[in-house]
Amino acid sequence: MKVEFYGHVRQYRNLQKEIDANVQKVLLSGQYVMGPMLKQFEGELAAYHGMKYAVGVGNGTDAIWLVLMALGIGPGDEVITHPNTFFATAEAIWIAGATAAFVDCDSKTKCIDPARIEAAITPKTKAIIPVHLYGQCADMPAIKKIADKHKLHLIEDNAQAIGAHGPSFKVGHLSDAATTSFIIQKNLGTFGDGGAVVTNNPQIDERIRKFRNHGSNARNVHSFGFNSRLDDLHAGILSAKLKCIDSWNDLRRKWADRFTAGLKDCRHIDLPVELPGYRHVFHLYVVETKQPAQRDPLLKFLNDAGIDAKTHYSIAIHQQAGYPWGKGARAAGSLTNAERNSASCISLPMYPELTEEEADYVIAKVKEWDRAQA
Ligand SMILES: *Cc1c(COP(=O)(O)O)cnc(C)c1O
Repeated sequence: MKVEFYGHVRQYRNLQKEIDANVQKVLLSGQYVMGPMLKQFEGELAAYHGMKYAVGVGNGTDAIWLVLMALGIGPGDEVITHPNTFFATAEAIWIAGATAAFVDCDSKTKCIDPARIEAAITPKTKAIIPVHLYGQCADMPAIKKIADKHKLHLIEDNAQAIGAHGPSFKVGHLSDAATTSFIIQKNLGTFGDGGAVVTNNPQIDERIRKFRNHGSNARNVHSFGFNSRLDDLHAGILSAKLKCIDSWNDLRRKWADRFTAGLKDCRHIDLPVELPGYRHVFHLYVVETKQPAQRDPLLKFLNDAGIDAKTHYSIAIHQQAGYPWGKGARAAGSLTNAERNSASCISLPMYPELTEEEADYVIAKVKEWDRAQA
């Protein structure tokens, strides 16, 4: 049996009528960039978050660094984040010209550990970027308390957790802005690239609207900016898909429950932790082998059995040879939890369109491997 890692084509088939209708609407409208469909989707996205503003941009990386730019954060400034995230979180800080200060993650949730943030703060620190990693929100109330105490900006990298929330907070509500990515593999993804910023701050909204469009919000009038727009075809596809995001996330949670119930007696792996009161939307279902040395053998065992398991992320950012150390980044304290995570993580196939047969085959194969260990 083969189990793919993604279900993009299945998802398209299930929603083909609605997606095709929006694509055709855009094609026949004659307006493809900064047109009415983008405006419509931005309104829907802001409403979905319960926020005042949503601005579509080219991708999730641009979304982060455009917020940094809008807040005036750049060379000479430091931004705190954690190193066991997708490379782009740190890359965005580097693009803005600022320095990333890496703080370790919590050993259970893999999100940034709030208890380690204060020790990383210096007079140069301007912002904290928690990542809602794998689909579960970071501990925003604790992080917000620190940000307020030290007068720091707070930007949520929500590329992986659209639709997630905490026990008493929603994404975007405790920060200056939240960013997201619409690349196809995200929980809300288009057939290509896209991203957005949601915020209640009119100045951030207005600045990013100009930045993304060559510094212009009136014909022929420019300040320096960039070209980073979400085009109307993608906005139309995303508008059709946004209506399904809650039910898709419910299905992800259902498969996660099935994996967790099926794998709970395994002795050689740890399962993902959902904190009480949190809605984890399982962008990824990440298990960890008890011993880092077991990770690659388990991955190979699953791949050989036709299961397209992957790693997210097998090299922590501070261990990437390609990261611009020195001016570009520094380690703030030990990063052993992040290093362990990079050495022992495996993501099982996870998407709404999985079948029971596929999920149970994955469970059976992981158990088979687990039983065969000493
Ligand atoms: C995907 C992702 C990004 C970047 O998004 P792109 O649209 O690929 O630029 C940033 N941060 C995290 C945590 C991501 O998962």
